Amino acid sequence: TDKLLEVKGLRIHFLTEQGEIPAVDEVDLEIKKGEILGIVGESGCGKSVTSLSIMKLVPSPPGKIVEGAILFKGEDLISASEKRLRQIRGKEIAMIFQEPMTSLNPVYTIGNQIRETVKLHHRYSKKKANQHAIDMLKKVGIPRPEQIIHEYPHQLSGGMRQRVMIAMAMSCDPELLIADEPTTALDVTIQAQILDLMRELNQSQGTAIMLITHDLGVVAELCDRVIVMYAGKVVEQGGVRAILKNPQHPYTKGLIQSIPHWNNQRERLYSIPGNVPTPGEWGNGCRFAPRCELAMNKCLKQMPELTEVELAHHSRCWLSS
Ligand code: SF4
Ligand code: MG
Repeated sequence: TDKLLEVKGLRIHFLTEQGEIPAVDEVDLEIKKGEILGIVGESGCGKSVTSLSIMKLVPSPPGKIVEGAILFKGEDLISASEKRLRQIRGKEIAMIFQEPMTSLNPVYTIGNQIRETVKLHHRYSKKKANQHAIDMLKKVGIPRPEQIIHEYPHQLSGGMRQRVMIAMAMSCDPELLIADEPTTALDVTIQAQILDLMRELNQSQGTAIMLITHDLGVVAELCDRVIVMYAGKVVEQGGVRAILKNPQHPYTKGLIQSIPHWNNQRERLYSIPGNVPTPGEWGNGCRFAPRCELAMNKCLKQMPELTEVELAHHSRCWLSS
């Protein structure tokens, strides 16, 4: 089988003072070996929570996986022991986040941190781990790595820090890299370089990538396939080209219109009016209805199913079912 990761019927709730509220609502997704999947949506749509749940990193409490299965190469991660998860984290599935400063330890040198990561998974001597760290930094395009390993995170630029994070993530040659808004804090030129780097690593090492972003422009640059999430649900999914050329869901169309222009320092010419509804305020109908110009009576009453509109392209909208 070429399936690397399968998420089935995932439901995640959060415990709040108002009671238990849903954040992710019956999400299905899969990633094949070596594939680059984008998960896109505005903040609050459930995309980060979904990605964190894969490594069982949703803080619990308040988060709780209520239902569903998460299978990595057929192994159920939801019932996996903490010990097993520690083996998988970093070695088979690695993660990078938006602000590397929060994941890098400010009091240790770059070399120290990469060595520690490497030593978690390989029985390397200090000298060998050091050489490995230098090789990894070279691979991610960091100039003068022999010098950089002696520096501290705050001495590097945001783009360099993200390269270091990628070097650390890739140092154990994981099969899956989960990247949550990896370029959002970076300026456009650096953003493009980091996306190039991720594509290179995907091609040279065969690493599958799950890219979480609010920006369909980033998805267009890097991904093979995309899942659009809205208010805890998958609302559209398909190949990147199909989605960009022939978007079906009004929400996806809005996201396409709001792709920032590269030459414009990400100035957004358009943003979808209104906000993602707060979890707990989801009605029975289509959750996008309050913001949808095309909403009909039926939309307010009943949620549409995810329907295949063309081969391997699905949309959850009454207009496409
Ligand atoms: Fe708009 Fe109705 Fe489609 Fe929802 S189901 S996106 S409200 S047209
Ligand atoms: Mg997020």
